[in-house]
Amino acid sequence: MDIINEGACIVQPLSPGWYNNRVAGIDMLRLDAIHPIISGNKWFKLKLNIAHALKEGSKGVLTFGGAYSNHLVATAAAARENNLSSVGIVRGLHHQHQPTDTLLKCVAYGMQLKYITIQEYRHKTDEEWLIALSAQYADHIIIPEGGANEEGRMGAGEIAQHIPACYTHICLPVGTGTTLAGIRNALPEAQEIIGFAPLKGGDYLNEALRPFIHKANWHITDRWHLGGFGKHGDELITFMNDFYGINKIPLDIIYTGKMMVGLHAMVAENYFSPDAHILCIHTGGLQGNTSVSERLCYAGS
Ligand SMILES: *Cc1c(COP(=O)(O)O)cnc(C)c1O
Repeated sequence: MDIINEGACIVQPLSPGWYNNRVAGIDMLRLDAIHPIISGNKWFKLKLNIAHALKEGSKGVLTFGGAYSNHLVATAAAARENNLSSVGIVRGLHHQHQPTDTLLKCVAYGMQLKYITIQEYRHKTDEEWLIALSAQYADHIIIPEGGANEEGRMGAGEIAQHIPACYTHICLPVGTGTTLAGIRNALPEAQEIIGFAPLKGGDYLNEALRPFIHKANWHITDRWHLGGFGKHGDELITFMNDFYGINKIPLDIIYTGKMMVGLHAMVAENYFSPDAHILCIHTGGLQGNTSVSERLCYAGS
């Protein structure tokens, strides 16, 4: 799939003034640069799932997501590029009447959407429910929500190839934790990994991910959920505009914006020693900024 340009993910230094020179350096790995839609970590989590579907000779892929899901739209675009059909199971019947920009993009990429109630969506990992679903969509392989399977973790592990050994700390936002697990397993244990969960209670992942991670020196914090998943108050928007003004890097409202709020605070609290060399991963998600584009000083996509 050559429309994805993994080579475009550069490492970009942040302005030392942004972190008051309290550490040796903070750089950002711009995974958002590989593709405007199939951006960031989503491509890495999908690549082996798509390869699996092609190898099986499947007609397409089926997956799950909310009305703002970066994973849904990335799956739609990646399937289209590979001549696979795609089905998206959407959380919440009410979105059917007023589809979000994200859902409209899914449809534009040829994804067939099926809206289900929030109650029914809770079954998304129940084996029997999934068997019934796959009977309805024969010839489609099922990719779990957020690409959270072994293929997703293995693919995410390939992000480690873009992470030089000089970094002492790697920071990234987490949702399902699939990306963190893949990267943790692939990098040397000496490099500390910090995950920032943008949802209240997101630190449950410290337990939940354990079966999938076979190395130490990682943790997930939910201190900077800033009101909860998808909430974006003025504090966050102002921070993101200031961050763009100083570093010329656009952040997204759901994941990377909150990670950088958290990282900024941890640096100020002296969590890191002065010789720390930190790499934060820009996991993409900029397509989700369209709902607040008039409040941002830079364009979404
Ligand atoms: C989906 C997403 C994440 C979360 O990735 P997980 O592998 O589910 O933890 C982080 N950042 C962005 C921008 C995303 O779209």
